[in-house]
Parts: sequence; structure tokens; C-alpha cells
Amino acid sequence: MSSRHEKEKAVNVQVLLRCRPFSDEELRNNAPQVVTCNEFQREVAVSQTIAGKQIDRVFTFDKVFGPSAKQMDLYDQAVIPIVNEVLEGFNCTIFAYGQTGTGKTYTMEGECRRSKSGPNGQLPSDAGVIPRAVKQIFDTLESQNAEYSVKVTFLELYNEEITDLLAPEEFSKAALEEKQKKPLPLMEDGKGGVLVRGLEEEIVTSASEIFSLLERGSAKRRTAETLLNKQSSRSHSLFSITIHIKEATPEGEELIKCGKLNLVDLAGSENISRSGAREGRAREAGEINKSLLTLGRVITALVEHLGHIPYRDSKLTRLLRDSLGGRTKTCIIATVSPSVHCLEETLSTLDYAHRAK
Ligand code: ADP
Ligand code: MG
Repeated sequence: MSSRHEKEKAVNVQVLLRCRPFSDEELRNNAPQVVTCNEFQREVAVSQTIAGKQIDRVFTFDKVFGPSAKQMDLYDQAVIPIVNEVLEGFNCTIFAYGQTGTGKTYTMEGECRRSKSGPNGQLPSDAGVIPRAVKQIFDTLESQNAEYSVKVTFLELYNEEITDLLAPEEFSKAALEEKQKKPLPLMEDGKGGVLVRGLEEEIVTSASEIFSLLERGSAKRRTAETLLNKQSSRSHSLFSITIHIKEATPEGEELIKCGKLNLVDLAGSENISRSGAREGRAREAGEINKSLLTLGRVITALVEHLGHIPYRDSKLTRLLRDSLGGRTKTCIIATVSPSVHCLEETLSTLDYAHRAK
């Protein structure tokens, strides 16, 4: 058995790559395909023609999901073990990272607007990681003879400011602007984590409630986007599920296990590479860079066992501090398009994701 020290040192970061199918528009335009996935070899090849020569670059990941991989395939192969850890009382985080339009929200949420759970609580086939995780959690808890509670929060981070996506409130421009002047503050909780003061915690009692919560959050995101001229590609969303399980030890003592699962739909990665210099948007771009870039640095520091982990440098990494590093599991799902039109961003996504390994 490994010592406690070794356990704390072991870093568990898994990096997966998912390539979406061609969109109808890409098909209509006969967009050439530049990404090829080899799921068995866990490899992704990107072909480029430079000065008339074809050059292939090949990247290896922990798992690769090609265009025909279904939501269930990704969930069963990559997420089930992570949710099992959470049920054992650990904190874990799953990120979706990639260019806008490559399937981050599809992977995390799925087409939830159209989704309703079917008869016998079955999930629709395009349900994403969030509803599947909630279902796995309730299926497990309901099969055990223990008391439990499940709470969720759903927030958006835009410009390093936090908006509660679950808070019941008026959807007017004035109300939203007023709120923006008073973004929810982050406070240390004294136990190594942080608290967002005033954040709505919703108690969930069955998996079927998740679709209405997701819908409420997305509706609020869309409204705020339109009324405040936000660009959804520039915001991060964080859906957190906290589970408390009360168990009795064989000696008859009471034990509370507490685990948290964070599901993060990151801002479009093109925000790192392209928007930096454009005036007017400089502050916004800088602030988005801050969370995305700091996340990259935190993960590198964890993977390379550096002494200083710069959690404090961005809101996102402060929020996730108790769920990154130590005895936690982190999974990054990098998403790309197969088309030549996304080539440059695809290469930068693959480079970023590859560095996290
Ligand atoms: P992002 O959140 O990264 O901007 P979306 O999740 O909104 O991208 O995906 C863009 C479009 O592509 C959506 O219409 C979505 O339904 C579709 N899509 C993305 N990934 C897949 C996939 N693996 N299979 C089928 N459709 C997908
Ligand atoms: Mg999205």
C-alpha cells in the first residue's frame, strides 16, 4: 500500500480528446477533413499542407473519441470512475476545453432543452455528462441503505465576475445591470476551500429534476447574454454537485462522507489565442485569459509537482482549489472540429491539452 505522503503526491489528471462530426454547414461546403482519430491507438492526427507538402502531426491522449462516439461511450469509458470517486467522498473536476462550436456544451449538458427523461427515468441518448452524472449518483445512492443529501450550484464566470445561474430573480436589464455592479464575492471558508457568498444551493431529490435546473440556468445565461451584450463564448460555467452520505461504521459510529463533482464548460479557447490584442476588448480578453491561463499554469504545476500552485491568481482556480490536486481526480475533455477551417485553433487546442498531460 502506498504511504499517505505518496498518495498526496500522486496527481491524477486525465486528458481526453473528442472530435465532433461535421456540421450540416461544413458538409454543404464540402469542408476538407484534417483531423483523423484512432481510438484504439489513442491518437489524433492532423494533416496540414505546408508549401505543397503534406505534414502530419500526431498527438496521443489518455482516450480519444472520434466523430461517431456517442455521449454514452464517453460517459461510460471516462466519467463513471470519476463519479465513483466522488461517491467515495473525494472532490473531482471535469473540464471541457476547446474552440467555440466544437462541442463543449454538447459534451457537458447535451441537448437538454429538448431533453426530458423518458419512462423509467431513462436518459435521452444525447444527454451529456451532467445529467448522466446526476443519474449515476442517484442510482447509486438509492440502492444503498444510507441517508444522503445532494446539492447543486450553477454559476457563470464572465470577466472574473460571478453570476448565480440558479438564483430566482427578475430577468430585466435593469435588474441584471444592478446585479453586475455587485458580483457575488468569494470568501475563504477556513477549510482550504472558498465560498461564494449568496450563491443559491439547490437541494435535488431525484435525477429527473436536473433537466429543469439546467434549463433554468441556460435560460438565464441566454437572457443575460442578450440584455447585457455578453458573448457566451467568453464565459465559463461551473456546475457543482455536492453529496453528503451518512454511514454507520461496523463499530456503530456515524461517519459522514462528503464528495464534490465540478463540471466546467470553459470559455472558448480562441479567447486565449486571438482576442488579446484587440483594443476595447482588452480588459475582457485579459480577464478571460486570466482564468484560462491560470488554469493551465495550475495544472502544469500539479503535474510537474512544483512547490507553488498559483490557485490564487484567478477566480476559477480559487473556486476549484479544494478540487484540484491532492487526492482528487481531474479530467480535461478537449474538443475539436474535423474541418480544415478550424485547423489553427485545433492545433492550439491539441498543444494546450497535450501540455496538461
Ligand atoms: P461549444 O459549446 O464548444 O461552443 P456546442 O456544444 O454548442 O459547442 O456545439 C456546437 C454544435 O455542434 C451544436 O449544434 C452541437 O449540437 C453540435 N455538436 C457538438 N458536438 C457534437 C457531437 N459529438 N455529436 C453531434 N453533434 C455535436
Ligand atoms: Mg458552449
